[in-house]
Amino acid sequence: MTGLPFPRVRELSPAPAGLAGLPDQLGRVARDLRVSVTDRCNLRCRYCMPAEGLPWLAKPEMLTDDELVRVVGVFVRLGVRQVRLTGGEPLLRRSLVDVVRRIAELRPRPRIAMTTNGIGLDRLAQPLAAAGLDRVNVSLDTIDAEEFADLTRRDRLHDVEAGLKAASQAGLVPVKVNAVAMRGINDRSVAQLLQWCLDRGYELRFIEQMPLDAQHGWDASTMVSAAEVRERLAERFELTALPESDRGSAPAERFLVDGGPQTVGIIASVTAPFCAACDRTRLTADGQVRNCLFSQRETDLRGPLRDGADDDQLARLIQGEMWRKAPGHGIGSADFVQPDRPMSAIGG
Ligand code: SAM
Ligand code: SF4
Repeated sequence: MTGLPFPRVRELSPAPAGLAGLPDQLGRVARDLRVSVTDRCNLRCRYCMPAEGLPWLAKPEMLTDDELVRVVGVFVRLGVRQVRLTGGEPLLRRSLVDVVRRIAELRPRPRIAMTTNGIGLDRLAQPLAAAGLDRVNVSLDTIDAEEFADLTRRDRLHDVEAGLKAASQAGLVPVKVNAVAMRGINDRSVAQLLQWCLDRGYELRFIEQMPLDAQHGWDASTMVSAAEVRERLAERFELTALPESDRGSAPAERFLVDGGPQTVGIIASVTAPFCAACDRTRLTADGQVRNCLFSQRETDLRGPLRDGADDDQLARLIQGEMWRKAPGHGIGSADFVQPDRPMSAIGG
């Protein structure tokens, strides 16, 4: 892959006093907060976690429900309009339904979404929807049982299918499915997955595999690119690109499938990054704010929170972190360094 046109990541000046909202120095404004509610997971997807799992955070290291909801409230005060709960596997946080209910009580009420592997959603979709969850993205890379077990190192495909069904029944529609194609594992079954999603009314989106695995085993030459996924889908379906104006702030390139109305999305997060339009900010389960998945640093909120910081002080810390957001992730450039934390610990 050729180098991408990003300036070097550099230290930028501190946020000026009197700043409103969550702008950075390039004029981007964060409105979409991704909250990792746990770093634990019950799958071991090859692109994310090693087979043996990771050294999980101890409970005292994690934000309590009160701390988490308070920090999310500060983000909302700073202009965040969508909160996406993720992880790790968010359904493993026992208090999740209560956390959703409390976030839904914030004003202005943010939209509440969740990214999940779907295991346990058969039981939780309805209570989560009743608590205020608006949308769900379920990660499912293949509907071939052997491929699923190979890729996730667990035999849980049926649980994910049951979770998806329950999400539809609970009215969390349109149910979105996120998929990553890995060469030699599920790259040949992408069209089969699309057909399966079309048959059930799920909206499928492929995302390129990013260098965020815990093993640091990513290799650009083996990544299945968005262009390749599109070619494979085009062998079986007629894809008509929707105009970019229909994309909104979403990074997916969307296509009508066989004339529509159903669509498929393909996110070229590596080969055609959307950093210039990024409106995301992230909070880790242990209370660190990150301005980017690929950031080499983060700002601690947990320490100040536990030392008695007030909301204005927390807001300043969050603004400072966002102000120094780098222009782009720089994957493919000579000085790119993969972040220490894998996707599961940052919150995907
Ligand atoms: N466990 C939940 C799940 O799998 O949906 C939420 C956390 S997971 C880290 C969030 C999303 O990140 C999933 O859709 C997963 O496929 C994606 N992901 C994880 N590692 C990735 C990587 N290296 N490149 C691209 N996407 C990745
Ligand atoms: Fe778990 Fe999600 Fe990572 Fe898979 S992608 S190992 S389900 S956190």
